[in-house]
Amino acid sequence: MNHTKSEQLHEEALQHIVGGVNSPSRSYKAVGGGAPVVMARGKGAYFWDVDGNRYIDYLAAYGPIVTGHGHPHIAKAIAHAAETGVLFGTPTEHEITFAKMLKEAIPTLDKVRFNNSGTEAVMTCVRVARAFTGRTKIMKFAGCYHGHFDQVLVAAGSGPATLGTPDSAGVPTSVATEVITVPFNNVEAFDEAVTVWGDQLAGILIEPIVGNFGIVEPNPGFLEHVHAVAKEKGFLTIHDEVITAFRFHYGAAHTMLGLTPDLVAMGKVIGGGLPIGAYGGRKEVMDTVAPLGPAYQAGTMAGNPASMQAGIACLEVLKQPGIYDEMDRLGALLEQGILASAKKHGVTITLNRLKGAFAVYFTDEKVENYEQAENTDGETFGRFFKLLVSQGINLAPSKYEAWFLTTEHTEADVEETLKAVDYAFSKL
Ligand code: PMP
Repeated sequence: MNHTKSEQLHEEALQHIVGGVNSPSRSYKAVGGGAPVVMARGKGAYFWDVDGNRYIDYLAAYGPIVTGHGHPHIAKAIAHAAETGVLFGTPTEHEITFAKMLKEAIPTLDKVRFNNSGTEAVMTCVRVARAFTGRTKIMKFAGCYHGHFDQVLVAAGSGPATLGTPDSAGVPTSVATEVITVPFNNVEAFDEAVTVWGDQLAGILIEPIVGNFGIVEPNPGFLEHVHAVAKEKGFLTIHDEVITAFRFHYGAAHTMLGLTPDLVAMGKVIGGGLPIGAYGGRKEVMDTVAPLGPAYQAGTMAGNPASMQAGIACLEVLKQPGIYDEMDRLGALLEQGILASAKKHGVTITLNRLKGAFAVYFTDEKVENYEQAENTDGETFGRFFKLLVSQGINLAPSKYEAWFLTTEHTEADVEETLKAVDYAFSKL
């Protein structure tokens, strides 16, 4: 496969855009380097690069593109917004329609607020939790990414009951020490940290299904325990559903798990591919937000008509019967095929899957926390990734990211993918 133009454009990008990319995860640094493929256009489950190569897309733009590229229903909504005004700086009816749709799908949301990214949504949840409880410390799970604001850029995997240290230059230690990191799926470590800091905690950030070190489900009873302890100690449960909302069913992951968070942050899928964030939750907590309450959050672009109409259209597509069952069915076919192929070639992998999202780890251990994901073989993953890209299968260039199916993938795409995977395993 020829990537000449991608390589040229990457060289040019390096002169003008820092690192040649607008988000570090797009660089191929974690998979042994090289020029990232530069995409030109997408349609359905495919996209084409600037050299004319076609790829089956399992990146789905890191999650949002659940209905595939250029879905006609969403394209129509975006075109309508372009023609009738993309930004007014006033309320619109679209915001109300969309808020009602979200509330109907996710019963724990009494009230919502829209903003522009997952980062903004989680950042505001943290502020609201602090305003509501009058406390400052936040707990999070190691390896869970919650955006790029200061409080959540703290060292992952720092072990049980340790205070955070900054994970990025520019984050003051004073901010990082407000964040306590504990391993996921570890009741003892959580309890230990709560014993020390429970009375100072404003909230705990929870990815109910972890999507940032592959796909990791909570062990039975783990999140129920976290919720019970949070209630007892008076800190809020903040579910970060930026990846998970509308990814596994028409609604939030916490509904599937039978949990009732105080606050929920969303993004990605709910924007139909346009920039979006949203947060919501219990009425008493949400009423802490201005203009009703003292916690400030605002945005020139917040609730903009284009994102609202794209989001409404996306949810309309996802509400069709059978959509999630089909992604689950294709996910199962991929899982079975990849495992069989690995066995055939003597390649050791662990595959974690929930419906249309899964992760392939090069390890013989199970993966249920960040440390285990960290210990998987990144070098082999890097070679596997490049062998797939060179055969027209695109996924994220990182051993920590999931593969995402869309409503547009077909059984033929799965078969083509499995052939490519089989070849890649034969060459590892
Ligand atoms: N939370 C989670 C769970 C995420 O996966 C991400 C992005 N990958 C974010 C928050 C941040 O969202 P955004 O990139 O839209 O700011």
